[in-house]
Amino acid sequence: MLILKFGGTSVGSAERIKNLAELTKGQESKIVVLSAMSGTTNALVDISRALYEKNTKKAEELIDSLENKYKKEINDLYKNEAILQKGKELIDFHFQYIRSFVKFPVFTSKEEKILLIQGELLSTAMFHYYLNETGEKSVLLPALDFMKTNEDNEPDLPYIEERIKEELHKYPDATFFITQGYICRNAQGDIDNLQRGGSDYTACILGAVIDAREIQIWTDIDGMHNNDPRFVDKTHPIDELSFDEAAELAYFGAKILHPTCILPAQKRGIPVALKNTMQPEAKGTLIGNIKTPDGIRAVAAKDGIYTVTVRSGRMLLAYGFLKTIFDIFEKYKTSIDVITTSEVAVSLTIDNPDNLDAIVAELEEIANVEVAKNQTIIAIVGNIAKNEAGYGAKILNAFKNIPLHMISYGGSEHNISVVIDSKHKKEALQSLNSGLFGY
Ligand code: ADP
Ligand code: ASP
Ligand code: MG
Repeated sequence: MLILKFGGTSVGSAERIKNLAELTKGQESKIVVLSAMSGTTNALVDISRALYEKNTKKAEELIDSLENKYKKEINDLYKNEAILQKGKELIDFHFQYIRSFVKFPVFTSKEEKILLIQGELLSTAMFHYYLNETGEKSVLLPALDFMKTNEDNEPDLPYIEERIKEELHKYPDATFFITQGYICRNAQGDIDNLQRGGSDYTACILGAVIDAREIQIWTDIDGMHNNDPRFVDKTHPIDELSFDEAAELAYFGAKILHPTCILPAQKRGIPVALKNTMQPEAKGTLIGNIKTPDGIRAVAAKDGIYTVTVRSGRMLLAYGFLKTIFDIFEKYKTSIDVITTSEVAVSLTIDNPDNLDAIVAELEEIANVEVAKNQTIIAIVGNIAKNEAGYGAKILNAFKNIPLHMISYGGSEHNISVVIDSKHKKEALQSLNSGLFGY
């Protein structure tokens, strides 16, 4: 079985949805995982913000404008009158529901999460109806029936495996399944999501639990590039990546993949192919248990980082001090990405500031603490053998005009991380592009 995931741009218009029907043709059984049409989840986030602010007028305007887009797409999508009618009823149903939140007396994160899943519910039903019009048989599986996170907000793999297999068994003759990316239930059974970009995660989780032949992530670019094309002029796609390399790039900001989506595929050894819907013949990137060439292969940048520097004379020659510090982060379930140490100080980075004040308060009981926000981690990824000379010099040379806040080298043979102020990110990526890749 194959998993085919199509992102927002790939389902972004009636034309694109028609194109999907072509791309997904073929004999092999498949589950097609869809995101919301591009712009929809952002619009739902904006609507939620307006509702939090009790700005009813703005919320209504945003809802109207989103609904108009869907009404237009529906008219372009279906020729068959009966199916067009079904499409219209679908749009009416979801937009009446979205509008009901404007009148609802409270708006909390619970209501927001319900709003945020509407985009994927719409896109999957629209595609399902379109296939119906073309005579292709498909089964629409509601992701809320099997996608679930556990108490730690991690995907509940045993549950998902059991439930999706039960669902698939209900349709022994079917070969074409469609489901929603991104959306799930949480440990309490409430509606939730796998964070922005989470459709990739749905695809990789499903691929892992059903032991798919391949997971294909179809998007708007021809694979993983050596650098972030949003910030750098010249980049090139990479044919092959190992799971480790892909996981590092995804985690450290290569937006083409959800930060943690590679892990389930890697665990079960399921290859992940990145493909371009606009250029299906392009090679794309294959990610797997692959021995890739030595050297630096790509860079990525992750924003929204906080650095916490903990300084204390008590660290000098003392053991157990680092444990005390890490225990505080663990207590607040806050994960640390990059760490550098000296004899009297430790600097570390976090990307989740929810408990930062409490963490700092506890750290201040034992040390001096300094926090910096608006930091960016630049990850330099590849096969970076520690016994080979030259990598450090090349990297540092690329940063010669940019202040470095932290540098972490040697923890992994696949990643060298550098922390800088976010205002220097573009310059850093550009400079690494010339220094490491000759652009
Ligand atoms: P989708 O909606 O299909 O999930 P995304 O916008 O989430 O698509 O991801 C694709 C985008 O990721 C590309 O258009 C590109 O701008 C961005 N991107 C960032 N870093 C990279 C990279 N290293 N390689 C390829 N694309 C990248
Ligand atoms: N629609 C969701 C988002 O925009 C999930 C996804 O596209 O992967 O984040
Ligand atoms: Mg995405």
